[in-house]
Amino acid sequence: MVSVPDYFGSLVFDDRVMKANLSEDIYNSLRKTIDEGKRLDIGVANAVAEAMKDWAVQHGATHYTHWFQPLTGITAEKHDSFITPSPDGGVIMEFSGKELIKGEPDASSFPSGGLRATFEARGYTAWDPTSYAFIKGKTLCIPTAFCSYGGQALDKKTPLLRSMEALNKQALRILRLFGNTTAKYVRSSVGPEQEYFLITREMYEKRPDIRFTGRTLFGAKPPKGQEMDDHYFGVIKPRVAAFMDELNEELWKLGILAKTEHNEVAPAQHELAPIYTTTNIATDHNQLTMEIMQKVAAKHGLVCLLHEKPFAGVNGSGKHNNWSISTDEGVNLLSPGETPYENAQFLLFLCAVIKAVDDYQDLLRIAVATAGNDHRLGANEAPPAVVSMFLGDELTAILEAIETDSAYKGAEKEKMKLGVNVLPRFIKDTTDRNRTSPFAFTGNKFEFRMLGSSNSIACANIMLNSAVAESLKIYADRLEGVEDFSTALHEMIKKTIKDHKRIIFNGNGYDDEWIKEATEKRGLCNYKTTPDCMPHLLDKKNVDMLTSHGVYSKEELNSRFEIMLDNYCKAVTIEANTMINIVRKQISPAVEAYSADVAKAAAAKKALSSDIDCGYETGLVKKLSALTSGMSVKAGELEEILLRLADISDIAHQSEIIRDEVISKMNELRSDCDAAEVITAKSYWPFPTYGDLLFGVN
Ligand code: ADP
Ligand code: MG
Repeated sequence: MVSVPDYFGSLVFDDRVMKANLSEDIYNSLRKTIDEGKRLDIGVANAVAEAMKDWAVQHGATHYTHWFQPLTGITAEKHDSFITPSPDGGVIMEFSGKELIKGEPDASSFPSGGLRATFEARGYTAWDPTSYAFIKGKTLCIPTAFCSYGGQALDKKTPLLRSMEALNKQALRILRLFGNTTAKYVRSSVGPEQEYFLITREMYEKRPDIRFTGRTLFGAKPPKGQEMDDHYFGVIKPRVAAFMDELNEELWKLGILAKTEHNEVAPAQHELAPIYTTTNIATDHNQLTMEIMQKVAAKHGLVCLLHEKPFAGVNGSGKHNNWSISTDEGVNLLSPGETPYENAQFLLFLCAVIKAVDDYQDLLRIAVATAGNDHRLGANEAPPAVVSMFLGDELTAILEAIETDSAYKGAEKEKMKLGVNVLPRFIKDTTDRNRTSPFAFTGNKFEFRMLGSSNSIACANIMLNSAVAESLKIYADRLEGVEDFSTALHEMIKKTIKDHKRIIFNGNGYDDEWIKEATEKRGLCNYKTTPDCMPHLLDKKNVDMLTSHGVYSKEELNSRFEIMLDNYCKAVTIEANTMINIVRKQISPAVEAYSADVAKAAAAKKALSSDIDCGYETGLVKKLSALTSGMSVKAGELEEILLRLADISDIAHQSEIIRDEVISKMNELRSDCDAAEVITAKSYWPFPTYGDLLFGVN
């Protein structure tokens, strides 16, 4: 049997392969590009391209592609083969440095939110050497950034790399203030926990709602749901286990550190967590993971649902973004450390995050806003739409002691002052866990839990990196050149705690009382839906912050605003159209057929003997008829709203109508259909029910 270390990363052009296949000079200059962002000259690029191609061909590749992440939220690729005609009528396999560095795909069919005029179809892809090339199928995939002819980013990777650079720059300034002269760079790392559902392919094929929209638009509650909590961490069924085995193998070959797998709360729901890595690589890997999950599922006769809310009344799927920042020397800046000196530095970074999350809570909400995720945030299963932070009792008590200049209970009876040895050592308390907080400190990292399962993690990390870079910049501006560093630092931390403690909440985030307190007493934002939060992307404070760190240009932000709302409108409109279609073509005819048969049975009974009681049939037919009439009226009304919507060109206005009218009408329509399902004989129902779907994989 082949062991995992033997094939781990076997499809990746990683450091091991580079070292073995490049001359020392070439390898060293490439390393400089990867680690320090040094420009790559064409000679080096040619040598790397040649080695990459030879390695890829040896592994069965015939094509290459610039692999990128347009604003659709998924990845894109256009394949070119390596073949070049040779004079003798045959072909040779060729790949040049120019082809490695730059591609020119036609950009006209990707969303640009007005950034790229349609006449200017050209877009560019540029190699991101910090994320290794890999082989998928028969294609060498080269991770790239994607931008317009005018240089505006048309993807998620470019702003992500820029945000990492902004964070790096400001964090290094802070480290220098603490006397660190050796760290070369600071990077954020992420470990994204990915939730998903598995259903059988056979049932999937019979559900047009899942096929067209990724979620069920109809479905009465099954007799058994998740109330027994017997699925969470339960024994993994053999068919699922076989899927997970193959998934792990495929991911490992791609150098993806798949680590943990378990059943989730809902029936048919599972989770996969990788070991964390540098943010841009983690982002590439998470996109790949989602893709491979779907491919492997198909091989096992299954379908992997990545939608945030495939089933009403059952937990949806999220993605926990575990985030930390560390130096190239391996120091995690969010780790409390062993000495008071480290503690002071840790407290400053901690405060930077607290300030960032409070100041830019709207951007964090925006980063996770999609039509699908709106169903989760605010339901009693996922963090609410209100952003708050969990720090745990110990850290909170320490911050309180600093704020009030009083003694921390665990420490000697002296006032807390940073830089002196009264700061206690932190005890890493793993039992101190809170599962309901949107943004929780978990010992040496923060876990941002509001992401939806299908979200690219890029957006959340762009906002997080940028907002923390902004806090650090403000701190560095204030501390650089100050005479009494210790006192200035102490005062600044105190001020941060005073100004931003409203964002800290250690209680139950699912509690209605909390939402009241958060919004009424603390003044935190509660943007329940995508149309509610999205306009704030263009608030002056947000535009100023993001442009000042060079993460987005004003135009790029405008384009994101347009595209995110457009995606929202399209997603819901497709759902509404699918609903109308299913009601008219499947559900109504099925219910009608059933009630006609019931009526026929009653008539037959009456014909036998007029004193047979047909109350049951009469009552049932009446109920079913009322429901089909209701369906017909509501489908008509929904259609009317959609027609009206088609005439509105302003995307923000469109999204408001969807929020206020379309979604509520869809809910009304669904409610009639679900009521009919419960009283219609199973053999008449046109597709698998919730019970079938959720308990169908055996
Ligand atoms: P839980 O389900 O309790 O939240 P998991 O072990 O499933 O925990 O997931 C934790 C995730 O956090 C893993 O992906 C892990 O690699 C990641 N992680 C651990 N330490 C760090 C860190 N310093 N920075 C970023 N991610 C981290
Ligand atoms: Mg978690």
